Amino acid sequence: MREKSLVLIKPDGVQRGLIGRIMQRFEDVGLKMVGMKMVWVDKEFAKEHYAAHVDKPFYPGLECMITEGPVVAMVLEGLHAVEQVRKMVGKTEPKSAEPGTIRGDFSQHSYAYTDAKGIAIKNLIHASGNVEEANAEVALWFKEGEMHDYKTVHEKHVF
Ligand code: AMP
Repeated sequence: MREKSLVLIKPDGVQRGLIGRIMQRFEDVGLKMVGMKMVWVDKEFAKEHYAAHVDKPFYPGLECMITEGPVVAMVLEGLHAVEQVRKMVGKTEPKSAEPGTIRGDFSQHSYAYTDAKGIAIKNLIHASGNVEEANAEVALWFKEGEMHDYKTVHEKHVF
Protein backbone atom coordinates (compact mmCIF):
# COMPACT_ATOMS: atom_id res chain seq x y z
CA MET A 1 0.00 0.00 0.00
CA ARG A 2 3.02 2.30 0.23
CA GLU A 3 3.36 3.93 -3.16
CA LYS A 4 5.41 6.56 -4.95
CA SER A 5 3.76 9.21 -7.13
CA LEU A 6 5.32 11.66 -9.57
CA VAL A 7 4.17 15.24 -9.09
CA LEU A 8 5.14 18.20 -11.25
CA ILE A 9 4.55 21.84 -10.40
CA LYS A 10 4.15 23.06 -13.96
CA PRO A 11 5.61 26.32 -15.32
CA ASP A 12 2.45 28.27 -14.41
CA GLY A 13 2.75 27.14 -10.77
CA VAL A 14 6.47 27.94 -10.63
CA GLN A 15 5.99 31.36 -12.27
CA ARG A 16 3.13 32.20 -9.91
CA GLY A 17 5.35 31.54 -6.90
CA LEU A 18 3.24 28.65 -5.62
CA ILE A 19 6.02 26.07 -5.14
CA GLY A 20 6.16 26.39 -1.37
CA ARG A 21 2.41 26.49 -0.77
CA ILE A 22 1.81 23.44 -2.95
CA MET A 23 4.60 21.43 -1.34
CA GLN A 24 3.34 22.41 2.10
CA ARG A 25 0.02 20.67 1.45
CA PHE A 26 1.72 17.39 0.62
CA GLU A 27 4.01 17.65 3.65
CA ASP A 28 1.06 18.49 5.92
CA VAL A 29 -0.74 15.28 5.01
CA GLY A 30 2.38 13.25 5.77
CA LEU A 31 3.52 12.44 2.26
CA LYS A 32 7.29 12.00 2.18
CA MET A 33 9.43 13.86 -0.34
CA VAL A 34 11.90 11.26 -1.58
CA GLY A 35 13.00 13.09 -4.75
CA MET A 36 12.89 16.73 -5.85
CA LYS A 37 14.48 18.83 -8.60
CA MET A 38 13.88 21.76 -10.97
CA VAL A 39 13.98 20.83 -14.66
CA TRP A 40 13.35 22.73 -17.89
CA VAL A 41 12.20 20.02 -20.28
CA ASP A 42 12.53 20.11 -24.06
CA LYS A 43 9.92 19.09 -26.65
CA GLU A 44 11.38 15.61 -27.03
CA PHE A 45 11.06 14.90 -23.30
CA ALA A 46 7.56 16.43 -23.25
CA LYS A 47 6.52 13.91 -25.92
CA GLU A 48 7.81 11.06 -23.75
CA HIS A 49 6.04 12.31 -20.64
CA TYR A 50 2.77 13.04 -22.47
CA ALA A 51 3.01 10.03 -24.85
CA ALA A 52 -0.68 9.24 -24.21
CA HIS A 53 -1.70 12.72 -25.41
CA VAL A 54 0.63 13.31 -28.38
CA ASP A 55 -2.09 12.69 -30.97
CA LYS A 56 -4.79 14.70 -29.20
CA PRO A 57 -5.89 18.07 -30.58
CA PHE A 58 -4.81 19.88 -27.40
CA TYR A 59 -1.25 18.43 -27.50
CA PRO A 60 0.53 21.36 -29.29
CA GLY A 61 -0.70 23.79 -26.62
CA LEU A 62 0.17 21.32 -23.86
CA GLU A 63 3.72 20.91 -25.20
CA CYS A 64 4.14 24.66 -25.49
CA MET A 65 2.97 25.12 -21.89
CA ILE A 66 5.13 22.39 -20.29
CA THR A 67 8.29 23.60 -22.09
CA GLU A 68 7.80 27.34 -21.50
CA GLY A 69 9.75 27.36 -18.22
CA PRO A 70 11.14 25.11 -15.52
CA VAL A 71 8.97 22.68 -13.60
CA VAL A 72 9.54 21.35 -10.09
CA ALA A 73 9.49 17.55 -10.17
CA MET A 74 8.87 15.57 -7.00
CA VAL A 75 8.51 11.98 -5.97
CA LEU A 76 6.12 11.68 -3.04
CA GLU A 77 5.87 8.47 -1.08
CA GLY A 78 3.17 7.33 1.33
CA LEU A 79 0.14 5.15 1.94
CA HIS A 80 -1.97 5.08 -1.23
CA ALA A 81 0.15 8.03 -2.38
CA VAL A 82 -1.10 7.99 -5.98
CA GLU A 83 -4.79 8.23 -5.05
CA GLN A 84 -4.10 10.60 -2.15
CA VAL A 85 -2.19 13.05 -4.34
CA ARG A 86 -4.83 12.98 -7.10
CA LYS A 87 -7.53 13.70 -4.52
CA MET A 88 -5.56 16.68 -3.22
CA VAL A 89 -4.83 17.98 -6.73
CA GLY A 90 -8.49 17.91 -7.89
CA LYS A 91 -10.06 17.63 -11.31
CA THR A 92 -8.07 18.44 -14.47
CA GLU A 93 -10.26 21.44 -15.36
CA PRO A 94 -9.74 24.06 -12.62
CA LYS A 95 -13.32 25.33 -13.06
CA SER A 96 -14.61 21.87 -12.07
CA ALA A 97 -12.06 21.26 -9.31
CA GLU A 98 -13.56 21.38 -5.81
CA PRO A 99 -12.58 24.09 -3.35
CA GLY A 100 -10.03 22.59 -0.97
CA THR A 101 -8.11 20.97 -3.81
CA ILE A 102 -4.94 22.59 -5.15
CA ARG A 103 -6.47 23.34 -8.55
CA GLY A 104 -9.79 24.39 -6.99
CA ASP A 105 -8.09 26.81 -4.61
CA PHE A 106 -5.44 28.32 -6.88
CA SER A 107 -6.70 28.29 -10.47
CA GLN A 108 -9.79 29.19 -12.48
CA HIS A 109 -9.37 28.19 -16.15
CA SER A 110 -12.17 26.38 -17.99
CA TYR A 111 -11.93 24.31 -21.20
CA ALA A 112 -14.45 26.72 -22.77
CA TYR A 113 -12.09 29.66 -22.14
CA THR A 114 -8.82 27.97 -23.15
CA ASP A 115 -10.34 26.33 -26.26
CA ALA A 116 -11.70 29.72 -27.38
CA LYS A 117 -8.29 31.34 -26.79
CA GLY A 118 -6.40 28.41 -28.36
CA ILE A 119 -4.18 27.99 -25.31
CA ALA A 120 -3.39 25.13 -22.93
CA ILE A 121 -5.35 24.88 -19.73
CA LYS A 122 -3.25 26.21 -16.84
CA ASN A 123 -3.88 23.78 -14.02
CA LEU A 124 -0.64 24.18 -12.05
CA ILE A 125 0.25 20.60 -11.44
CA HIS A 126 0.63 17.11 -12.84
CA ALA A 127 0.11 14.00 -10.73
CA SER A 128 0.38 10.36 -11.79
CA GLY A 129 -3.03 8.85 -12.61
CA ASN A 130 -2.53 5.31 -11.32
CA VAL A 131 0.17 3.12 -9.81
CA GLU A 132 1.36 1.74 -13.15
CA GLU A 133 1.64 5.25 -14.60
CA ALA A 134 3.38 6.43 -11.43
CA ASN A 135 6.06 3.73 -11.67
CA ALA A 136 6.72 4.59 -15.33
CA GLU A 137 6.77 8.35 -14.67
CA VAL A 138 9.08 8.10 -11.64
CA ALA A 139 11.49 6.03 -13.77
CA LEU A 140 11.29 8.58 -16.61
CA TRP A 141 11.98 11.62 -14.42
CA PHE A 142 14.32 10.30 -11.70
CA LYS A 143 17.40 8.09 -11.65
CA GLU A 144 17.77 5.75 -8.64
CA GLY A 145 20.52 7.93 -7.14
CA GLU A 146 18.28 11.01 -7.24
CA MET A 147 15.83 9.51 -4.73
CA HIS A 148 16.53 9.16 -1.03
CA ASP A 149 15.54 6.81 1.75
CA TYR A 150 15.14 8.28 5.24
CA LYS A 151 12.71 8.09 8.17
CA THR A 152 10.07 10.70 8.99
CA VAL A 153 8.03 11.09 12.19
CA HIS A 154 4.96 10.06 10.19
CA GLU A 155 6.57 6.70 9.59
CA LYS A 156 7.07 6.38 13.34
CA HIS A 157 3.42 7.21 14.15
CA VAL A 158 1.47 5.93 11.13
CA PHE A 159 3.20 2.80 9.90
P1 AMP B 1 -3.72 13.94 -17.67
O1 AMP B 1 -2.70 12.98 -18.23
O2 AMP B 1 -5.14 13.47 -17.82
O3 AMP B 1 -3.36 14.45 -16.31
O4 AMP B 1 -3.67 15.21 -18.63
C1 AMP B 1 -2.45 15.84 -18.81
C2 AMP B 1 -2.67 17.27 -19.09
O5 AMP B 1 -3.21 17.42 -20.40
C3 AMP B 1 -3.66 17.97 -18.18
O6 AMP B 1 -3.10 18.35 -16.94
C4 AMP B 1 -4.03 19.15 -19.03
O7 AMP B 1 -2.98 20.13 -18.96
C5 AMP B 1 -4.05 18.55 -20.42
N1 AMP B 1 -5.38 18.10 -20.81
C6 AMP B 1 -5.96 16.93 -20.49
N2 AMP B 1 -7.20 16.85 -21.03
C7 AMP B 1 -7.39 18.01 -21.72
C8 AMP B 1 -8.45 18.55 -22.51
N3 AMP B 1 -9.58 17.87 -22.71
N4 AMP B 1 -8.28 19.77 -23.06
C9 AMP B 1 -7.14 20.45 -22.87
N5 AMP B 1 -6.09 20.01 -22.14
C10 AMP B 1 -6.21 18.80 -21.57
